[in-house]
Amino acid sequence: MNHSYRCWAEVDLTSLRENLGWIRHRVGPDVKIMTVVKADAYGHGLKQIAALLMQSGTDVFGVANLAEAQAIRAVGRGWPVLMLGACLPEEIERAVRDDVMLTLSTLAEAKLVSAAALRLKRSVGVHIKVDTGMGRLGVATEQARELISAVEQLPGLRLIGIYTHYAAVEDDAAFAREQRRRFNRLLAPLLKAGRAFEYLHVNNSGALLLEKTTIFNTVRPGLAVYGVVPPAKRRIASVLKRHLRPALSWKCRVGLVKEVPAGTPLSYGRTFIASRPMRVATLTAGYGDGYLRSGSGQAQVLIGGKLCPVVGRITMDQMLVDISALKRVRVGDEVVLIGRQRRKEITAAQLAEWAGTIPWEVLTAITYRVPRVYLGGHAS
Ligand SMILES: *Cc1c(COP(=O)(O)O)cnc(C)c1O
Repeated sequence: MNHSYRCWAEVDLTSLRENLGWIRHRVGPDVKIMTVVKADAYGHGLKQIAALLMQSGTDVFGVANLAEAQAIRAVGRGWPVLMLGACLPEEIERAVRDDVMLTLSTLAEAKLVSAAALRLKRSVGVHIKVDTGMGRLGVATEQARELISAVEQLPGLRLIGIYTHYAAVEDDAAFAREQRRRFNRLLAPLLKAGRAFEYLHVNNSGALLLEKTTIFNTVRPGLAVYGVVPPAKRRIASVLKRHLRPALSWKCRVGLVKEVPAGTPLSYGRTFIASRPMRVATLTAGYGDGYLRSGSGQAQVLIGGKLCPVVGRITMDQMLVDISALKRVRVGDEVVLIGRQRRKEITAAQLAEWAGTIPWEVLTAITYRVPRVYLGGHAS
């Protein structure tokens, strides 16, 4: 790499394009793909990723808030965007002006949106969210029919979507089935009566990988688009996993190499004391770059194609690794935090396990200080 970064992320756009292509293959040509790009496209950089996805078969975007919706608007005007989070009262006018589709859970929200639409002489596309067991947003399944009828009566609203969200599809097939049963029981009479929804969606990445037969007319993947397989107690077929390639690699450098005698304490709190003479490298990344401190004493990195354990506490800008097993490590050498080096690979899911968390958090924790370098942008 021809640059002088201390800590950076490489985003391989070809992998992203292929991951989305595989999802397209899996759902077929008639299902809409709502790519979830919240939290800066899971840390990959929203603008660049949105631009790429617009050319690669995304039909609609899912975001968490208005700033994210506006970032997409800045890349491609007119692209459909759904705000998955609740819209705060003071945000509604801006959302209506920007033509962002909104998620409704209550009649009170619906009335506020309707009033704003009338004021602005616009109409707003809305999706009703049904809480079938996640317990976060959404109308309770039993009250959903009432909300649907009310929303259909309100001026300025176009009810074009309905959805629910799994709480544990990766781990608990029975509960996923129960959530689907609740959702279907609500939908069946509506669909039978000829009610159609442009966007009818349930499946996140886990459901896409585990439950191919439960796709409605729209799917809502995040993690899988970035090539990361969600951790699961249920078995995800390895043939499926092989189709997804992680788009993001995360790297830093060796800043210092030293030999320390047995008995040397390393890093804050003196939690690690060398039990033997060791060779140690100080790296140019820390929790200020988003490398989770909970990985102290647990995580490993790749140097020279070998796994090297993190020793002592991870600090804001630096961390220490044991390189005793390596012969020639030099200042400036490339260190892989996530990604491949020679034959070895550290996945976001593996790093998450070391840090006691989930890959979604590992990716979104990577901070602004880490430049994202895009590769493969002109390949298609
Ligand atoms: C984040 C999110 C998704 C995407 O989930 P993945 O597990 O990353 O695929 C889908 N739907 C909703 C409502 C979300 O909040």
